[in-house]
Amino acid sequence: MEKLKYERPIINKISAGVTDKFGMSHKMPVISEIDGVKVTDIVEKYDSPVFVLSEKTILDKFNAAKQAFTTRYPKVQFAWSYKTNYLSSVCKTYHNLGSWAEVVSGFEYEKAIQNGVKGENIIFNGPDKGIKDLTLAIANGSYIHIDHFDELYDIIKIAETSEKKPKLAIRINMDTGIYPRWDRFGFNYENGEAWNAINRIMLNPKLDLVGLHTHIGTYIMSPDAYAVAASKLSELAVRLEKKYNHNIKYIDMGGGFASDNTLKGAYLPGKDTCPSFDDYAEAITNAIINSEINPQNMPTLFLETGRALIDDAGYAISTVLANKRLADSRRSMIIDFGINTLFTSFWYEHEVYPAQEVSAHSEDTTIYGPLCMNIDIIREAIKFPLMQKHDNVVIKRVGAYNMTQWMQFITMRPKIILIDTNSNTHIVRENETGENISSMERLPKHLS
Ligand SMILES: *Cc1c(COP(=O)(O)O)cnc(C)c1O
Repeated sequence: MEKLKYERPIINKISAGVTDKFGMSHKMPVISEIDGVKVTDIVEKYDSPVFVLSEKTILDKFNAAKQAFTTRYPKVQFAWSYKTNYLSSVCKTYHNLGSWAEVVSGFEYEKAIQNGVKGENIIFNGPDKGIKDLTLAIANGSYIHIDHFDELYDIIKIAETSEKKPKLAIRINMDTGIYPRWDRFGFNYENGEAWNAINRIMLNPKLDLVGLHTHIGTYIMSPDAYAVAASKLSELAVRLEKKYNHNIKYIDMGGGFASDNTLKGAYLPGKDTCPSFDDYAEAITNAIINSEINPQNMPTLFLETGRALIDDAGYAISTVLANKRLADSRRSMIIDFGINTLFTSFWYEHEVYPAQEVSAHSEDTTIYGPLCMNIDIIREAIKFPLMQKHDNVVIKRVGAYNMTQWMQFITMRPKIILIDTNSNTHIVRENETGENISSMERLPKHLS
């Protein structure tokens, strides 16, 4: 008979199976497989820690978003936000579903081209577009969303000698009732700056104003804010019709829809409080169709949603390194996923689940990462059953931003695997090695 695992004795009020004062049960569900693939098999084959992406979830989420908007508005175009997750396999999945590319740097622009996206299907955003980037984007017929006047002057200069007329939109910031306001990007609506930029572009025969863009923030839980933003952009479109008899081709509402993650300090779980794609779609499309825009020339609705599409498709699989009692007798557990590779633990109360059957008894536990850094905390306090060294845990909803904002620090960045819709697994990014890191270093002669 297998020797029973040792569990250190403690005195604690029994809470197994009993609901707490909020009506929540403490029996922790177990995630032993993802899309039909056993977590333990993934660890055996690909090692731990490892990121996992679910192709099925990517497809399901995208179809839900598409359905919500296309049933309410005649012309809808999604553009995949590269910075949210620019793994080629992820980008290509969205491009295969019909998404354009939304990029915010020369690097991301090149990446979109390498992914086979046609120049005229790339939206170029962001405050940092060099002359080289702009020249290439204009030559390729991409849509350039201007962030500030200095960028407009660069474009005017390039347009003087360019064969192609630049296709332009301006990014607009505004008061939507969401604070703090993101007023550092684009031109302000309320103080007339946006209208001023529009007039400058319209009065230059070498420029073509084709769209109006906003991106009001990220993890925005209020559909009303989108309704306000869509109304303000529609109002500018109407003014353009009146003054210049000019119809813009599109209104781009950016991204920022909340995923089902729970923000730190939130009282209720995100999946109970975050708006659905239908809620956002209802708010945005109503504002546009109820505006005074000429119905003969309804603009295409562009959406650059990132987080809400990819977050749920990402999992982090981790291994328990140790259990430890803190000085004040609180339980803690150390796992091999740190905040350097799980950036979003700064903002979210990430859902963490055991991958193996566990006892019904749970205790308040702090989950630490493996770094020798005091801030390396994955979950501050979570009711968690006792896990043993080498057991696995699964962290849910980590598909957005972690795989682009992660940093190499102390440990190597892990592999990323994709589970396809037939439950086959594929490595889509190799883990880093010491050689990768040292290959970039140079030793001055006097030190070698
Ligand atoms: C980051 C970004 C997005 C995507 O935002 P999400 O919050 O991931 O949906 C879209 N558009 C622009 C301009 C962005 O900067």
